[in-house]
Amino acid sequence: MSVAYLPHPTWQDALSDLVTDPEEVLSLLQLDRALLPDLKKAAEYFPLRIPRYFLERIEKGNFHDPLLQQVLPSGLELNEVTGYSADPLEESSKNPIPGLLHKYPSRVLITLTNACAVHCRYCFRKNFPYADNNPGKVGLEKIFTYLAAHPDVNEVILSGGDPLATNDKMLQHVFEGISAISTIKRLRIHTRLPIVLPQRITPAFITILSSIKLPVIMVVHCNHPREISHEVVFAFQQLREAKVILLNQNVLLKGVNDNAVILAELSEALFAAGVMPYYLHVLDKVAGTAHFDLPEDAALQIYQELNTLLPGYLVPKLVREEPGMLSKTLIGV
Ligand SMILES: *Cc1c(COP(=O)(O)O)cnc(C)c1O
Repeated sequence: MSVAYLPHPTWQDALSDLVTDPEEVLSLLQLDRALLPDLKKAAEYFPLRIPRYFLERIEKGNFHDPLLQQVLPSGLELNEVTGYSADPLEESSKNPIPGLLHKYPSRVLITLTNACAVHCRYCFRKNFPYADNNPGKVGLEKIFTYLAAHPDVNEVILSGGDPLATNDKMLQHVFEGISAISTIKRLRIHTRLPIVLPQRITPAFITILSSIKLPVIMVVHCNHPREISHEVVFAFQQLREAKVILLNQNVLLKGVNDNAVILAELSEALFAAGVMPYYLHVLDKVAGTAHFDLPEDAALQIYQELNTLLPGYLVPKLVREEPGMLSKTLIGV
């Protein structure tokens, strides 16, 4: 399969030419200009950011498009809703050194960069103090030292932001540093770029991945079957040829995928592309995201129906993140 039309020659060009202007998004997608004042207000708090490739997958003139709903700033984000706060996961208290989150005993998460190709409006780290958490090269040395001193940690997760928003040179440096620590058995990458900017999976990056001695697991983030384009399938195929294990985690989102049939289609499409479902997260109660949330009984009802539509191995685990817990909390079991 070949890659069809992509709006930019390289992923770096794509990343420096994101749609960030509220007026432009309305005109490109032929949406009602009456949305502009609210859109601008919401974008002041958490800027609008959409790769042109992803924008092209959105149906023009359809405000309810499930891809659009994930990325279009809304006035509803400005509502203060009881129970939704800036850091509901209390991540800032599990942050022993800048750029490192160590919540679960056997694995750590590195917030490699604050940059991301897309701003998901329901982002749970949109208030994260990234300015203090960009490790940089010096910070990375401290992280490697920390890992060497914590032999119980056997897996490192690269997250962000989006770790693939950084360049290959930086990633290679990190891969080499982690691989040199004998107690680390697995390397995991949490990224949405293969979905929103599949061009990021270049032959050069595949070569780097293939050279890592540790098993590599990539957990992508795809919420709706329409996100799985030919370009995305092609990116997955390259990754699989590099022996990367592909998993998907996504979020149950009102107005996007709060429907068992859609979620079943997503699992089927992922499997067909070589990706296994991993987690289905209920929304973290982050300020400005309440309009994406579902009551827990509604979530459970969708999940029970999903179980009837799929073989067990294609049903993601429904989970909630609770501060202070040593793992995600399984629900609906
Ligand atoms: C979710 C999460 C992980 C990974 O959890 P798994 O169950 O291993 O996927 C690790 N660290 C942090 C801080 C997390 O939030």
